[in-house]
Amino acid sequence: MERQDAARYDVIVVGGGLSGCAMATALADGGRKILVLEARAGKNPRFNGELIHPHGVDILDERGFLEPLHRAGGADVRGFAVVQSGEKPTTLLPYDEIPGSRPFGFAIDHHSLVDTMRAKMLEKPGIELRLGERVVDLVRDQERVIGVMTAKGPALAPVVLACDGRHSKIRALIEMPEQARLLSFTAAALLEKCPLPNPGFGHIFLGAWGPILVYPIGAADARTCIDLPSDMDKGKEAVIARIRADYAPHLPEGVRATLVRALDSGDIEVAANYAIYTDECTVPGAALVGDSTGCSHPLTATGMTIALNDTRLLARELSAIDLRDRAQVDAALGRYQVDRYRFVRAREILADALYEVFRGTDDGTRAIREGIFQYWNASSKSRARSMALLSGHESRLPAFLREYLTVVGKSTTSVLRGLVNEPTVSGRVRSLYGLGKKSWEKFGIVAKGVREGSLR
Ligand SMILES: Cc1cc2nc3c(=O)[nH]c(=O)nc-3n(C[C@H](O)[C@H](O)[C@H](O)COP(=O)(O)OP(=O)(O)OC[C@H]3O[C@@H](n4cnc5c(N)ncnc54)[C@H](O)[C@@H]3O)c2cc1C
Repeated sequence: MERQDAARYDVIVVGGGLSGCAMATALADGGRKILVLEARAGKNPRFNGELIHPHGVDILDERGFLEPLHRAGGADVRGFAVVQSGEKPTTLLPYDEIPGSRPFGFAIDHHSLVDTMRAKMLEKPGIELRLGERVVDLVRDQERVIGVMTAKGPALAPVVLACDGRHSKIRALIEMPEQARLLSFTAAALLEKCPLPNPGFGHIFLGAWGPILVYPIGAADARTCIDLPSDMDKGKEAVIARIRADYAPHLPEGVRATLVRALDSGDIEVAANYAIYTDECTVPGAALVGDSTGCSHPLTATGMTIALNDTRLLARELSAIDLRDRAQVDAALGRYQVDRYRFVRAREILADALYEVFRGTDDGTRAIREGIFQYWNASSKSRARSMALLSGHESRLPAFLREYLTVVGKSTTSVLRGLVNEPTVSGRVRSLYGLGKKSWEKFGIVAKGVREGSLR
């Protein structure tokens, strides 16, 4: 088909998942023609995120998704309960301690989430969703993206928005530089009638090789996401055997029994966990949104909140401009790029650091872990500050640095008081050395963010 015969739209959204649905809905103003192209005709077989922080829930609510999502099932989530071991007290990190924040996050089966969002999106005038139509190439006018190509031919629009997930085809086609690292694997299972020790909270159980996340997903059921080493045998039998032997013993009895039942039925899904980072997400005529810009370890459940925030920022920039004016479009995309990395960087660093600290066994990470728990257990203010950063309520650099330096201070005190490793002089020296090394590493990442202007 010739380009002049191609179908023309105001916006093309590539990908009909969480980001694509939220993006198209946010841009639909009754006048705009928006095409959403979704590669799959049926369900995505890969396990995907379910737990959304209050900031993300605010955006779902703003766009009219929350009510139908509540009707579709799911559960409100009150925050996190971090369980270090049976002997230590559980640390509760409730959202309702964050001043001005919605007191609940939300968790729902990902397929129900996407089905509900698609149905709601299609209530908006001007949106056309084509399922089973994969974008395979871009249409360009010199350096500018002016449309996409599918097996059915080209479709053109002044703005192409890539919502096509962490292994984004569009990111590859526009040759956006990225850093990607396989971190670990997640084994996910539904825990029927699971008696969570702190009802309504997402639990993080520590002690095994990797953290075990268990959160409510319905009135009585919970979901577990178990972090497994990336180099282990991925066969279902091997995964089940490993979880039975090395992970189940770290769970309280009631939760363990529901996990054992799930393992007996063999009903588990395994997904890879990547850290993918980008520094830029726009080119003339196109932008990346949500996971297509990158992702972090799912432990801190930040992916969907970041994706929803992307759609809010981008819609704000694109709503007030003439989409046929290329200069206006590129300026709007540029502003989006600056704002989204400002929001994302603090959460990326935090997600990365918390995963390492919850999992790491070296002297430095053990010292920081001790410091973090001391900090959280000290007051509701400190818990609220950490949760505000994690959940997207707070993104400013001074807040992030203050948190960071306080935790390092607490960690140093713990080491000096002999609470980390054996309390001998050599043990303390080793811990201090490890702590210094870790702090320097993390400080380097924060400093890079400051230099790039991504952290305010
Ligand atoms: C194991 C695991 C657990 C997670 N847990 C959480 C959690 O608890 N909380 C949280 O916030 N986040 C979590 N995440 C992250 C979360 O799943 C993502 O942030 C979220 O799915 C991103 O949505 P998206 O729409 O950007 O991408 P996706 O959900 O990947 O959707 C992309 C869509 O684009 C389509 N597509 C791809 N290529 C093309 C193409 N070429 N043409 C057309 N369509 C295309 C795909 O079929 C898909 O429908 C988790 C991730 C993993 C892997």
